[in-house]
Amino acid sequence: MISTDVNEPYQPILESYNPRQYSGESSKRDFSPVLYETFPWLSLNKSSKSFECFPCQKFYPVSKSFLFSNWRKPQKLHKHCKSKSHEAAMKKWINLKINLKQQSSVLSKVHYFHEEEVKKNREYLQIIVETSIFTAVQNIPQRINAELKLLHCHHSHWKELEKTLKMLFLIFFPR
Ligand SMILES: [Zn+2]
Repeated sequence: MISTDVNEPYQPILESYNPRQYSGESSKRDFSPVLYETFPWLSLNKSSKSFECFPCQKFYPVSKSFLFSNWRKPQKLHKHCKSKSHEAAMKKWINLKINLKQQSSVLSKVHYFHEEEVKKNREYLQIIVETSIFTAVQNIPQRINAELKLLHCHHSHWKELEKTLKMLFLIFFPR
């Protein structure tokens, strides 16, 4: 799989990169992707069909950029590895990768906790909803009963009240 990560070099596995005919040689030479293993910083520049150093390009873009396109001289790669600026760029790249890894692990933890929180809230809400529905359903006959009782109550109260009023009327307004 080819990485499209902005923090990783572009290292496609191709049948052909940039075959070149060198004087005194019968067949053409090309870049070999086997070199990616020894030099993980190699990054293909599609437009120039040559390879550059990913960390040097990323962290020191103003410095004289390293280019590898002479397939007959892989020693150039070893030489570049020993340069001070390359060592510094490699350190920065490694640190960046470590930081990114830590960040992604923190983010995944945050994401996990958030998911748990959402799950808990959803469960809680579900309980509330279910309980409310249950209570509402349960309450229907109870409410009907209660209202019927209340009607009855009012009715008997009215009778009592009527009696009391009649008595009071007789007391205050005797015939
Ligand atoms: Zn470099």
